[in-house]
Amino acid sequence: MVLPSYLLPLFHRLEQSGHRCYAVGGCVRDSIMGISPQDYDLCTNARPEEVISLFSDYRCIPTGLRHGTVTVLTEGHPVEITTFRTEGSYTDGRRPDWVTFTPSLEEDLSRRDFTVNAMAFSPEEGIIDPFGGRQDLEKGLLRCVGNPDRRFTEDALRILRCLRFASTLGFSIHPNTAAALKNTASRLTLVSGERIGAELNKLLCGKQVRQILLDWPDVLGVVLPEILPMVGCPQRTPYHRYDVWGHTAAAVEAIPPKVELRLTMLFHDAGKPACAFTDESGTDHFYGHGKISAQLAQTALARLKWDRATSETVVELCLLHDRVLVPSLPAVKRLLNKIGPERLEQLILVKEADTLAQSKLALPRMEQHQQIRRLAQQILEEQSCFSRKDLAVTGKDLLALGIPAGPKMGEILEALLNAVMDGKISNQREALLQYLREERF
Ligand code: ATP
Ligand code: MG
Repeated sequence: MVLPSYLLPLFHRLEQSGHRCYAVGGCVRDSIMGISPQDYDLCTNARPEEVISLFSDYRCIPTGLRHGTVTVLTEGHPVEITTFRTEGSYTDGRRPDWVTFTPSLEEDLSRRDFTVNAMAFSPEEGIIDPFGGRQDLEKGLLRCVGNPDRRFTEDALRILRCLRFASTLGFSIHPNTAAALKNTASRLTLVSGERIGAELNKLLCGKQVRQILLDWPDVLGVVLPEILPMVGCPQRTPYHRYDVWGHTAAAVEAIPPKVELRLTMLFHDAGKPACAFTDESGTDHFYGHGKISAQLAQTALARLKWDRATSETVVELCLLHDRVLVPSLPAVKRLLNKIGPERLEQLILVKEADTLAQSKLALPRMEQHQQIRRLAQQILEEQSCFSRKDLAVTGKDLLALGIPAGPKMGEILEALLNAVMDGKISNQREALLQYLREERF
């Protein structure tokens, strides 16, 4: 494992003052896997006050002094340095009742969640791995450090972290750890919405998300009860080959890994079970499910305190996802007018993922989605008019023609815009004014 050069002065200074220093946790795991770590966490036997005074010529932020963490800024990189610590009992299932500092690295590693996250590294000593993390990493295995039931009971967030790492790293879960997930899942209700939301975001963007959703709906359902009715809900139509949950899992995987898009696919059909209706031929229909899905998404996202922008995007896309889009220039201009270019591209991605997760019979729709995308590109490139502000006349021109400001003026501008979008008149001042006179608004 090679450390970035900006860390070396931190190691040297701690070691020269008689302390030990290691890189620890996620950065060791990622480096061994050949992934470049997002950030590096260090741990040391120096007390937080000592770290602050040793690095008095650096910018230090007392991130969590009581828990032993000081953030030192070096060459623009924030590096968390945490004193080796042990944790007391967890009576609330969320936070340790106390933490104490310890001189033992092994003790510090033993409080960590999974063996692959419980390794440390120093340039002098190499990799320190008391729990077989390296072997588990090679096998692609997530395994709790210590007794899994106890570890998940201590801190229920670890239940979700386990599924999150399985999704992002593409790992399997050791049978004992998997059994403990089931035993302790109900304790997830103890964890705050924000912390659950942060883990779910990462889980949904992971490469193995489809399998995790298929394998663990009951655990995820503790924090997202909205998903549960989808599991096993049949879709007897030639356009589908999975039940609603199987389709949802495939659709989540089929869309690019952006939080708002993945969340949209997670919820897009959540309203189906409530709308299901089987006709006399035995075919299932789900009329109006988009609206119910949007409501369910809104409730879940508000409960888990997702930010407003993400929540609004997801709700709107759920609402729009089964709207029929017509691949013609006027229709796409109207869409651009209504939802704007960014939302339209998101909607096309949603429709593509939805189609890819259906049966082969649905596949010809892919060409239509692509056609809509091409039309939108053409409209944007040609800077064609699709909103009132693009019109070559303004309210002022209408005033000059004696049309008073007010709702009537709004209607006239809208009529002009529609005529332009439909290609009845060109968006030129003279042509528009002429049209106004002729139509006698
Ligand atoms: P990421 O790539 O998401 O940052 P990470 O492994 O670095 O992954 P962090 O949340 O940054 O995860 O935590 C850093 C380390 O702290 C972990 O590798 C693990 O050793 C330990 N850790 C974090 N959260 C917990 C927890 N809830 N219980 C036990 N150990 C934890
Ligand atoms: Mg980290």
